[in-house]
Amino acid sequence: MDRGGFTMGRSGRSVPLVQGKAICKSFNSDIRRIEVLNELDFILEQGETVAITGPSGIGKSTLLHILGTLDRPDRGTLLFKNEDVFAFDPERLAAFRNESIGFVFQFHHLLAEFSALENAMMPLLINGRKKDEAEERAKGLLVKVGLQHRLTHRVNQLSGGEQQRVALARALVLSPALLLADEPTGNLDKKNSDHIHELLHELNRELGMTLVVVTHSSELAGYMARRVTLQEGRLVEEGDGIE
Ligand code: ADP
Ligand code: MG
Repeated sequence: MDRGGFTMGRSGRSVPLVQGKAICKSFNSDIRRIEVLNELDFILEQGETVAITGPSGIGKSTLLHILGTLDRPDRGTLLFKNEDVFAFDPERLAAFRNESIGFVFQFHHLLAEFSALENAMMPLLINGRKKDEAEERAKGLLVKVGLQHRLTHRVNQLSGGEQQRVALARALVLSPALLLADEPTGNLDKKNSDHIHELLHELNRELGMTLVVVTHSSELAGYMARRVTLQEGRLVEEGDGIE
C-alpha cells in the first residue's frame, strides 16, 4: 500500500484528511420533514480511526454516505485535504470516490455471479488498470484477508463472513485514503465478526489506514482510537479515546 501519499499516524498539524462544516441533511417523509444532520462539524485527521455509534435511525448511514460522497448534504461543505469535493464535476467526483474512498457495507453489495477475484478486481478495472496488474493486486488483498483458497469461487458460493472479506478486499484494492464501514459485522456470527474486527484493526496498525466505522459492536468500537456518537444531528465525542 504505497499510493495516495497520506501521512502515517495521527497528526494534528497536517491538513485534515476530511473536514465537514455545518453539514445539514433532512428527508421528507409522508407526514413530516426529518432533520437528520444539523450543522454537523467533523474533522478527521489522516490515519485516525473513529467509531460512530448511536441508536438505529439516528443518521449514521446518512453521515457515512455523505462522507463517502455517495449522497450530498442540503447545506454545508465537505473538504478532502482542503478540496471542496462536492464542487467537483460528476466525472471528477466519481474518479475521486473510486480512488480515495473504500466502502464496506453491512450487506456487501458484491456481484453474486462473479468470482471473489473478479469482484475484488472491479475497482481497478473501473480505474483503467491493466487486467494483469488488477489481478495481481486483487489476489494480494484476497490473500491478506485469508481467502487465498477461494479466489475463483463465485461469491454466492461463499459464506457470509467470506463475502464480507471479499468486500473488504474490494474496498482496499486501490489503497483508498479513507475506508468507510457501515456496520460491517452487523450481519455476521461471532467468529466471522472477530476476524473482520482483527483485519480492520490490523489495517490501521500496519498501513495507517484512516477508518470510520459505524458499529454496534463495543469490541470493534474499542479498537478505534476515537469514539463519537450522533445526537440531535451532531457528533459528540465520547472521550476516553487513546490519544
Ligand atoms: P442509521 O444508519 O443511524 O440507522 P439512517 O442514516 O439510515 O440511520 O437514517 C436516519 C433517518 O433518515 C431515518 O429516520 C431514516 O428513515 C431517514 N432516511 C434515511 N435515508 C432516507 C431516504 N433516502 N429517504 C427518506 N428518509 C430517509
Ligand atoms: Mg444505518
